[in-house]
Amino acid sequence: MYDVETVRRDFPILSREVNGKPLVYLDNGASAQKPKVVLDTIRRAYAEEYSNVHRGLHTLSTISTENYEAVRGKIAAFLGASDPDTIVMNTGTTEGINMVSYGWAAPRMEAGDEIVLSVMEHHANIVPWHFLRERQGVVLKWVAPAADGSLDPQTVIDAIGPRTKLVAITHMSNVLGTVVDVAAITRAAHERGVAVLVDGSQAAVHMPVDVEAIGCDFYAITGHKLYGPSGSGAIYVRPERLAEMRPFMGGGDMIREVHRDTVTYNDAPMKFEAGTPGIVAQIGLGAALDYMTGLGMEDIAAHESDLRDYARGRFGGLNWLSVQGDAPGKAAIFSFMLDGAAHAHDISTVLDKKGVAVRAGHHCAGPLMDHLGVTATCRASFGLYNTRAEVDVLVDALELCHDLFA
Ligand code: PLP
Repeated sequence: MYDVETVRRDFPILSREVNGKPLVYLDNGASAQKPKVVLDTIRRAYAEEYSNVHRGLHTLSTISTENYEAVRGKIAAFLGASDPDTIVMNTGTTEGINMVSYGWAAPRMEAGDEIVLSVMEHHANIVPWHFLRERQGVVLKWVAPAADGSLDPQTVIDAIGPRTKLVAITHMSNVLGTVVDVAAITRAAHERGVAVLVDGSQAAVHMPVDVEAIGCDFYAITGHKLYGPSGSGAIYVRPERLAEMRPFMGGGDMIREVHRDTVTYNDAPMKFEAGTPGIVAQIGLGAALDYMTGLGMEDIAAHESDLRDYARGRFGGLNWLSVQGDAPGKAAIFSFMLDGAAHAHDISTVLDKKGVAVRAGHHCAGPLMDHLGVTATCRASFGLYNTRAEVDVLVDALELCHDLFA
């Protein structure tokens, strides 16, 4: 039985005040808070078990390497990947997608080849493809969601043409909370010989993920949204794509032998992890995934669905609040504006005075802002420790904004 009050006690920061009010943290879409077990794991990793990995034969290096490598297996299990060697550990989604852009897509795409992507993508799943457009003449083909924010997989499938080499698509919009049927898209793309990269930065936080059931070629996640440390993360790469991919960065750890005239590379996934990795960040991510798995991803999803429905009901009573997107099955992520009123930044500032943390701005989703015809929104994004009472605090604070600005 999911007991949110017990869960909240696991997060030290949630007991602090902001501007004299209890903190109501609704900026989980940007980054989530960390449970005590993650903080304790980080401390222990530095205070008692720290050394570089893969390099020394001494005891601490062995412990550190074992702790670090164990995380690869935890990430694989968390994502439903049967082989831990399909997991490349990195600093997060941005690095993962850039690795695919430089290492896999760039060498096999020519001028006129196409990448299909949705206007809901985060800049991390746009800019690495713009690099290919600028440098190699690759064409970006955009698909848009329906008015309610849902994205019919057929729209994406219909955009795939004879020159399409890749579909790069989010599993969950960080602005609208829309969940995309990436399994259906992958099936159709693969029938046409097209690879699929899924940005799982948001989805992996809020729902169980099974990359092998999805069937995708790449699935990127980022640790700091998963209640883990910033600078941690991973990307799942299907074995066939791993074999095709060139290393993105060169340096220590990713090589087997280096001579004046030759270099040979390590096997995957080490081949794609050059230099000293974020050892402790990654070990902290392992603790975060254990924590989430311990709570149960189904139970986390059910708790957040309840919050979504409750928030949707409360927002429905505010006829001056415009919420962007209401796709069936969406996550508890709400982007909104107050009709005819202040800029999102002003709303966020007033909410902050009430202890409520939301994000205001373009949410690194420029094409979606263009599509919606707005320059900025406020976003309340809920996590596993939020409560219905916090929805009420948000609504009270929004009513104050309405009184101030309308
Ligand atoms: N993709 C989505 C959907 C996101 O929400 C984010 C973070 O906001 C990212 C990618 C980028 O993640 P990171 O900055 O951790 O690399």
